[in-house]
Amino acid sequence: MSRIVVLGGGESGAGTAVLAQQKGFDVFLSDMGTLKEEYKELLNQYHIPYEEGGHSTEKILNADEIVKSPGIPDKAPLVKAAAAKGIPIISELEFAARYTQAKLICITGSNGKTTTTSLIYYMLKEAGLNVGLGGNIGKSFALQVALEHYDYYVLEISSFQLDGMYQFKADIAILCNITPDHLDRYDYKLENYAASKFRVTQNMGPDEHFIYCADDPVTLQEMPKHNIHAHCIPFSIEKKLKEGGYLEDQIIHTQPMEDIEMNIENLALKGKHNIYNSMAAAITAELLYIKKESIRKSLATFVNIEHRLEPVISVGGVLFINDSKATNVNSTWYALESMQNPTVWIVGGTDKGNDYSSLLELVKQKVKAIVCLGVDNKKIHEAFKDIVPIIVDTQSAEAAVQTSYKFAQKGDTVLLSPCCASFDLFKNYEDRGKQFKAAVRKL
Ligand code: ADP
Repeated sequence: MSRIVVLGGGESGAGTAVLAQQKGFDVFLSDMGTLKEEYKELLNQYHIPYEEGGHSTEKILNADEIVKSPGIPDKAPLVKAAAAKGIPIISELEFAARYTQAKLICITGSNGKTTTTSLIYYMLKEAGLNVGLGGNIGKSFALQVALEHYDYYVLEISSFQLDGMYQFKADIAILCNITPDHLDRYDYKLENYAASKFRVTQNMGPDEHFIYCADDPVTLQEMPKHNIHAHCIPFSIEKKLKEGGYLEDQIIHTQPMEDIEMNIENLALKGKHNIYNSMAAAITAELLYIKKESIRKSLATFVNIEHRLEPVISVGGVLFINDSKATNVNSTWYALESMQNPTVWIVGGTDKGNDYSSLLELVKQKVKAIVCLGVDNKKIHEAFKDIVPIIVDTQSAEAAVQTSYKFAQKGDTVLLSPCCASFDLFKNYEDRGKQFKAAVRKL
């Protein structure tokens, strides 16, 4: 009997172990940290042996194949030892895809993955398709393959997942964009990170579709280096395209398919970045033969997920917006770009080597005051001191909200779009967003 070892017992690892057990493998799961109670229960329910709080090398290096959580870096000693022994190391998606015939719709990119994935899932569901949601979002794909029977899956895929994918074939792949992120895991080379994103197209043939952003310079620059056999469909808001999605006079078109012709005013998701996300989703839905009335209706009625340009409430005529998920410069660029009113901007946190120069123009136009929310805000002061008259430091969501409210007048917007990770003051970006919203509601 073949032995599968699962490294990492989170959502994806626990689901993988169940699927592997169901398929008759000798399964063992190992985690350096402690497992959540719900995953232990799941493993016990299926009588799957596991360990936590450390790895027993001898029980791992006898595997025929290892399924590794994307959170564990290739540099980890155990992973290096397994690779040196020639044990194949793959990701959950690679493993689980072997056991489903469903059509796989895969979304990757630096920004916009969760939004686009959720929007496509919503569209397919509204159209009555039997569809599951997985990857970096929601329930484990592997567990769903084991226990449910969907005809379609919409999968959000990170570059770390893609690094462990070899034979996996997407039916439709979407690459939202490529901007510098996580470069520490790619030898600080954007090219390597981009190559990882393009793995989403591997094994695709002319019957499959690859949807990409024709306004994204890195995508365009790197695309020719990857031998893409899929039918490629671009989308753009800057140029009119013969094939794909484009914008003209505020109307989204999709050519040469059935043109959806939808005014961007009617899109549920606001902001330039969401025009891209909506276009990518509309093209996908068309490729799946969803009727255009249904596509339009879904684009107009989708309720965005929390922490992404999420309007909280207006207090005294000041609108508070929670964009806590904006953890890099590019995503904040789009948030600022979509601001219609004078803005008090809450920014800061754990800096990931940010270069703020691309924001200067927008900040000059739109931002009246900056409220830093972080332990070390030196770089923010340095970057904006000559163009924004007020820059102050705060170190809690409550202080940031109260200070912002002081600087804002009726008709202004207070935007939390931090450009940075949250780990200096918060558990994660969700915690930051929730504390922000709670503080706003207390005003
Ligand atoms: P991801 O899952 O890739 O991290 P999300 O959909 O969660 O992306 O969005 C994260 C942030 O990125 C949002 O706060 C939003 O401001 C910004 N964003 C969303 N879509 C795009 C896009 N297509 N291009 C650039 N920025 C985007």
